Amino acid sequence: MLASSLRREELLALDAETILRRLFWQEKLLRLESMAGDATPHFSCTCSRERVRKTILGLGADEAQSIVAERGEIEVGCDFCGAQYRFDPIDVTQIFSQTDAFPPSSTAVQ
Ligand SMILES: [Zn+2]
Repeated sequence: MLASSLRREELLALDAETILRRLFWQEKLLRLESMAGDATPHFSCTCSRERVRKTILGLGADEAQSIVAERGEIEVGCDFCGAQYRFDPIDVTQIFSQTDAFPPSSTAVQ
């Protein structure tokens, strides 16, 4: 479809961005569902840099580092409030060097 008009690296970057967005949205949708019982229709965004950091962590080191290699940074935009979160190579390295971000062995599924 559009693939032929895009350079390969752009396509890869776009794809990674889509993955980030999808992960981000899943979490938001879950949160919205949990708030459905609340009669108050106010709409506040719960995004945060910490949340995006965990999303990047969920991508995996290889994927995240490949985005940094292609773009020089990882930039994630919130579709709700429009906030932009940028992670430079140092940030990304720190994300994956903080092993305590992972819960103890419970999620280590074979
Ligand atoms: Zn937001």
